[in-house]
Amino acid sequence: MATTTSYNPYTGETLNSYKNHTKTEVSEIINKADKRFYSWRETSFSTRKKLMLSAAAELKKNKKEYAEMITQEMGKPISQAVAEVEKCALACEYYAENAEKQLQNEIIKTDAFKSYVSYEPIGVVLAVMPWNYPFWQVFRFAAPALMAGNIGVLKHASNVFGCALNIEKVFKRAGFPDNCFSTLLIKSDSVETVIENDKVKAVTLTGSGPAGSSVAAIAGKNIKKSVLELGGSNALVVLKDCDMEQTIKTCVQARFQNTGQSCIAGKRLIIDASISEEFIEKMLIQVRELKSGDPTNDKTFIGVMAREDLAKDLEKQVNASIKAGANLRIGGKRQGAYFEPTILTGVTSSMPVFKEETFGPALAVTTFKTVEEAIELSNLSKFGLGVSIFTKNIEAAEKLALQFDEGAVFINELVKSDPRLPFGGIKESGYGRELSEHGIREFVNRKTVFIN
Ligand code: NAP
Repeated sequence: MATTTSYNPYTGETLNSYKNHTKTEVSEIINKADKRFYSWRETSFSTRKKLMLSAAAELKKNKKEYAEMITQEMGKPISQAVAEVEKCALACEYYAENAEKQLQNEIIKTDAFKSYVSYEPIGVVLAVMPWNYPFWQVFRFAAPALMAGNIGVLKHASNVFGCALNIEKVFKRAGFPDNCFSTLLIKSDSVETVIENDKVKAVTLTGSGPAGSSVAAIAGKNIKKSVLELGGSNALVVLKDCDMEQTIKTCVQARFQNTGQSCIAGKRLIIDASISEEFIEKMLIQVRELKSGDPTNDKTFIGVMAREDLAKDLEKQVNASIKAGANLRIGGKRQGAYFEPTILTGVTSSMPVFKEETFGPALAVTTFKTVEEAIELSNLSKFGLGVSIFTKNIEAAEKLALQFDEGAVFINELVKSDPRLPFGGIKESGYGRELSEHGIREFVNRKTVFIN
């Protein structure tokens, strides 16, 4: 019988062994989900709202319990895990309050007596999700999907099956009807049969490029809609007129929170050469102060990476970049799944830490002489999730924003997700949007109604 075992990346201990769902069990779960769809889609927005608010309340009430599972399974410092669960509650509340308005009929004046677009649910949507924000990534899909009248089926990353089952528990405890949201305990090689199942109408994937490309190809073959939220290598573009103290603080957060394992982390610091040395010296002081250690300790800011193999991948990228001429200013060492907060300066666009996504606590620093050069360096990335620009000249920054090939531009702020704003990328960061009214409209049938 196939099983999936989860480990605590900090202690190395085995947490649990989950029996994988068999093919038959998977199709039973999908059948039940599909059956539920026909009654769920008939529920009123006020019924769904009540349930979604109850899910938010449940998340807040038991945030410690849920956060502890996140910390155990992927090593996130507990204070950041609690914050993640709280953010999920916010997303539930946001969609509970706004879904009805976002999906109301849109009257369009034509030569008809009346014509409009109605936004209708499509059925069972599969979500393939990553481990780095194991609650948040799922809730930002599930809250809008359920409020729209769809049904969610989750295939979570193999190292966070405990989180997956806990998320199912949130909806159960909140009082959602059975099978509105279910978890498939399966390996990634079983995803194809799920997408091929006639009862599954669409798929959303948050994860790496290869996973996205494979899932999108299968969805395409089966003529099903897909949304992809993939990797990123955001630049932190620091102009010489920035507020240096504030910018350093923001950049440290942007790169090192969640132990650097975020798609929207600021991975490449692209900074005006005339201020770079002073900036880096001051930044090093702050980075030295980041508290590494036991993720269950409230004071810990840098935990371990989610798996040792991921820390090894980062080590390879850092070492290859040093070999190619980058200067190691701090960190660089790995112990098991722990990787020291690291800063490399003198990074060029041909080095791995610039060209590739670094999914851990390592910052690549490259300098520029002109703003045009800064934009070019930022845009050299194959990814296009977001960029931060730091300057006191807001008017100029807003004009610059147009020149970045990104899904988001944040001025004097780190790139972050907010339920009220659309989230997603261009280029190899994927397509489609999550959150806001753009997110909830991804998985609906925009039906044209024409009355003569
Ligand atoms: P991953 O290896 O791509 O895994 C993501 C999910 O896809 C997991 O559930 C995984 O299952 C599944 N998967 C992997 N290969 C698959 C395949 N060929 N077919 C079907 N499913 C497959 O990514 P990760 O290491 O968990 O997460 C890190 C990546 O996600 C980074 O690149 C990061 O930038 C990206 N990410 C993007 C966003 C965003 O919003 N744009 C947010 C967070 C993370 P298994 O675990 O069973 O392999």
